[in-house]
Amino acid sequence: TRHNIKPDYEEIKVGAQMSVLEIKNLKTYFFTPFGTVKAVDGVTFKMEKGQALGLVGESGCGKTTIAYSIMRLIPLPGKIVDGKILLNGENILEISEKDFKKYRWKELSMVFQGAMAAFNPLFKIGDQISEAMLQHIDINKKDAMKRSGELLELVGIDADRVNNYPWELSGGMRQRAMIAMALAANPTILVADEPTTALDVIVSAQIMDLIKSIREKLDLTMLLITHDISVVAQTCDEVAVMYAGKLVEKSSASEIFKNSFHPYTTALIEAFPSIKGENRDLKGIPGNPLDLMNPPDGCRFAARCIYAQENCFSDEPTFIEAETHHYVACHYWKEIKMRQ
Ligand code: SF4
Repeated sequence: TRHNIKPDYEEIKVGAQMSVLEIKNLKTYFFTPFGTVKAVDGVTFKMEKGQALGLVGESGCGKTTIAYSIMRLIPLPGKIVDGKILLNGENILEISEKDFKKYRWKELSMVFQGAMAAFNPLFKIGDQISEAMLQHIDINKKDAMKRSGELLELVGIDADRVNNYPWELSGGMRQRAMIAMALAANPTILVADEPTTALDVIVSAQIMDLIKSIREKLDLTMLLITHDISVVAQTCDEVAVMYAGKLVEKSSASEIFKNSFHPYTTALIEAFPSIKGENRDLKGIPGNPLDLMNPPDGCRFAARCIYAQENCFSDEPTFIEAETHHYVACHYWKEIKMRQ
């Protein structure tokens, strides 16, 4: 039996206001010699201006591919095969690369994983931040360098560090400088892809505090991509949980943490230490993430789900609005909720 079949998420009207970013049925595949990897397989969500959305899931679930799709930076053999990415209502997948360059950095900017790889070690930090400005906004070289120093100060680094090379900064400082560079052209939307990867817990916490304060100060719309669901609790208004190329749950951060519907979301929350600090045992999620080259029919989480029923292995659950502004893709979310 399939439960709670309501219209697709895509068909549900959430207010009349136009979203600043809207992803509709996005499909991004990688065509390898061994087969097609369906990294993102029909993802739909929208973001309102000033909102911070945390996109959460295990490594390999397709989160970073969504970020690269939004920035139109999917490397070969990857390709966006279907769907729309609407930026202020305009489908950016239909415009030329030349026209899209006007949007990159200015409208959409990205903090990449691992700042050492994102900076060129041969050029000074200030020159690299200035270059982003010179390419995308109307500014002269002297003013760009001055603003580079101001941006470094905004992220808690002395302005005279513009004269340093990336390798002269610590890991945490490089990540701060990366955030400064992402802000160079005063973007509307910041996409932050695992911005604290490879940093120790103390520096990670500092970077997340910095991102939160900058977002509030500059009224940025932010898509934060992370495997750590506890990080989004303090940083984001909304949480979208992704599993094996699809969204499985989406709601406000406060709602998800106290009332998750999908067994995968609940398992993710239980796999991380409590954000409130109470003592509880951490539980791992049994099984392995799915092979996205040959995803099975039915619910993609079925092989790891303790609540799976026979039909879960054959019928794919629809992403529905189960309760007001709380979306889930699970046939048995209501029964599971009653048992918890
Ligand atoms: Fe588990 Fe079935 Fe729900 Fe998938 S649809 S999460 S297998 S109960």
